Amino acid sequence: MLVSIPPEIQERIVAEFVRDGRDHEIAWGVFGRRHESYLSVFCIVRCEKNPSLNQTDIDHDKLMQAAAFLLAGFGDVDLLGIVHSHPHSGFYPSATDHQADVNWLRENDDEIGLFGIVCTHSTATVLNWFVLKSGVYSEAQVEHDKGTAWQAWQKEVDQ
Ligand SMILES: [Zn+2]
Repeated sequence: MLVSIPPEIQERIVAEFVRDGRDHEIAWGVFGRRHESYLSVFCIVRCEKNPSLNQTDIDHDKLMQAAAFLLAGFGDVDLLGIVHSHPHSGFYPSATDHQADVNWLRENDDEIGLFGIVCTHSTATVLNWFVLKSGVYSEAQVEHDKGTAWQAWQKEVDQ
């Protein structure tokens, strides 16, 4: 599925991971809009993993507060998914991530989610995006430029 992500969001996640996420997992809530054939991302909210919960839990209260704030300011905004860092593991969501993401979508009553993994391999930091649908991840076709998904979203916003 096509996903439009502004380059500054991609760059911010990578920069924050390099700065803060080398030794413990950090996460971001991803906000935007679900369209029939594509997703558009327009905001991320940093969300530390809640230290009182176990390693795989996200601080949902903070995300829900952010969602309420965005809804008040921008109108129609969906919480699309979560990006998290893998300081010590690979490019792809783990089996634990998969289970957590499937549960997360079910709890939010959403069919499609957008999940990202940021990690460092040798010297390069990589941010990979995955669309989760019907329990299966596929690699997101990300448009960082002002491609078709972005233009369609802009048109909608302008109306
Ligand atoms: Zn993970």
